[in-house]
Amino acid sequence: MNRTLVIRAGAAAAMLAGFWFAYTQKAYTQNNGKQPPALKLNTVKPDLYEIEGDGGNVAVYVTGEGVIMVDDKYEQDYDEINRLVKSVTNQPIKYILSTHHHADHSGGNTKFASTVEIISTVNAHNNIVEKKQSNAPDDMVAAQVTFTQEEDIFLGGKQVRAIYEGRGHTNGDAVIYFPALRILHTGDLMAGATPLIDYPGGGSLAQWPATLDAAMKLDFDTVIPGHGAVTDKAGLKTYRDNIAKEITRVRGLIRSGKTQDEVAKVMTAEYNWAPNSLNMQWSLPGMMKELK
Ligand SMILES: [Zn+2]
Repeated sequence: MNRTLVIRAGAAAAMLAGFWFAYTQKAYTQNNGKQPPALKLNTVKPDLYEIEGDGGNVAVYVTGEGVIMVDDKYEQDYDEINRLVKSVTNQPIKYILSTHHHADHSGGNTKFASTVEIISTVNAHNNIVEKKQSNAPDDMVAAQVTFTQEEDIFLGGKQVRAIYEGRGHTNGDAVIYFPALRILHTGDLMAGATPLIDYPGGGSLAQWPATLDAAMKLDFDTVIPGHGAVTDKAGLKTYRDNIAKEITRVRGLIRSGKTQDEVAKVMTAEYNWAPNSLNMQWSLPGMMKELK
């Protein structure tokens, strides 16, 4: 790699780190009283749209008998999500498949639940009921319908599969698969530059690669991550491999006798984990126990 490339790679890494910092710092707080941020709708494939901005990426699948959505961001994004869906179809939103319990993905349930059937894993449901996310709004609403392994929706001649593949970001992450379009929405099993492991919410860094391996057995070419730009299967594989490397690195540190504070310094230097970030609060203590 020549010097220019090194500088470019460094700049790209800094941008990724900046994005990640913004994500981990802001993704779990609502801007009470202020105007909700503007959202952007992108076309991913015919009849499949993605809404970026504010919380997690929302997928919008249009059928002749209604819309199937993946996640619903924060409660404050309800009006803007509805406006953007209406900009591409007159069909009503019939189902929301929730990827997991965090407020930046399921916060909109409070408003959508009266008109839309919301479906999640039983663990994601229980994590909302049991208020496992310490910084979530008090009035979170859980899915009305739950599953443990898989739930399929057939609507207007189209199929969508919500599948639980194992622990990772939480203990209740569903991946959402659109077979005809060969698209996978990963939820936060892929999000940002490095994984946020929500150990209080049942997450596991050690299990995460196997969970992604199971998901990657599905036949898809396009990946909608929980946060960040749409990518492909190779992008998801790279993300998975980086998690495996992170496990090896951290396990090595812990087994060589490093303390939690010493591991924290390495995570900041090598993984851009900011002091006092959610990574430090939710991920680090759990990693110290799990990777012993
Ligand atoms: Zn999350």
